Amino acid sequence: MNRFIPECLIITMICLGVESTAHTFGVGIVTEKGKILADVKDTYKPKLGSGIVPQEAKEHHLRVKEKVVEKALEEAKLGMGNIDLVAYSQGPGLPPCLWTGMEFAIKIAGDHDIPVIGVNHPVAHIEIAKLVTGTQDPVVIYVSGGNTQVIAYASGRYRIFGETEDIPIGNAIDTFARKAGLPHPGGPEVEKLARSGHYVELPYVVKGMDLSFSGIATAAVKLLKGGKKLEDLCYSLQETCFAMLVEVTERAVAHTGKKEVLLTGGVAANKRLTEMLEIMCRERGATFNAVPLKYAGDAGAMIAWTGLLAYKSGERTEKKDPISRWRTDEVEIKWLTRGEPQV
Ligand code: AMP
Ligand code: MG
Repeated sequence: MNRFIPECLIITMICLGVESTAHTFGVGIVTEKGKILADVKDTYKPKLGSGIVPQEAKEHHLRVKEKVVEKALEEAKLGMGNIDLVAYSQGPGLPPCLWTGMEFAIKIAGDHDIPVIGVNHPVAHIEIAKLVTGTQDPVVIYVSGGNTQVIAYASGRYRIFGETEDIPIGNAIDTFARKAGLPHPGGPEVEKLARSGHYVELPYVVKGMDLSFSGIATAAVKLLKGGKKLEDLCYSLQETCFAMLVEVTERAVAHTGKKEVLLTGGVAANKRLTEMLEIMCRERGATFNAVPLKYAGDAGAMIAWTGLLAYKSGERTEKKDPISRWRTDEVEIKWLTRGEPQV
């Protein structure tokens, strides 16, 4: 860097990212150097006793989008004229929500004649997690309301080493919590109640490297109706689901030989899960990082940062329509493959 020019005057690319795959409408603004200038979100809350209703989430996004982008620009102390690139979450996600985000991104990019790029949402979770924790090449555990995957980079892609065969872990916990009359999202409530619980047996379902959570949630609900204590079921649900996740992660670490483990997604907020992973990593000689909550859930900043990485590596989005089913391992990670032999 030229030491006579103040850093603020050195021109770097700035990207505005739009997240809208499910409950959250978020706008983040990030520089090419990885500085997060703003990250604003507004989250749709389903009525008590109900899960996300896609149409309602879409209406929420439409209602808040202008306000969220204005707040983000204000937080970054920038105008749209300072933005060089607009990125949006292209999938996977709920189609009505994805369309809203894409149309909004295309509109604001078009109004200011700047390029727009589509980003894969799980890949964005991984990239922002790496950025904010400074990890280089981790085994990533991505656990949220909509996903459960154990992922690691190999030969040009983020490969899925293990994943749920049915519902995501956050969804299993939320479903149980809802049936138990707890407010949404159920994760934090279950974690609190689990502190005074004792173990009761629940099914433990690991198949090869894959996981299944729906039977566990159903069994826990059945036991609750049969008179078992709520605290005991919260404790046992956590212990069982998390032990399964740690088992698969440990095998992924052993197989890949990677030395870093990185936990992200909304369920990363859970202290018991981080404690269990910490113990496993210590025993394996790997470092463990959990993404700070602010960047563990869905947010615009992760889309902005990944949009920048993709754009700078030459990626362009020709077909802009949402891809509601888009697997993490379908994305070519061009920004990590330069100079690397492809298989
Ligand atoms: P996300 O889909 O990434 O926004 O994350 C939302 C999911 O994280 C929901 O399923 C929540 O129940 C879950 N979650 C949030 N906090 C906790 C917690 N302390 N323990 C377990 N799950 C949690
Ligand atoms: Mg997510």
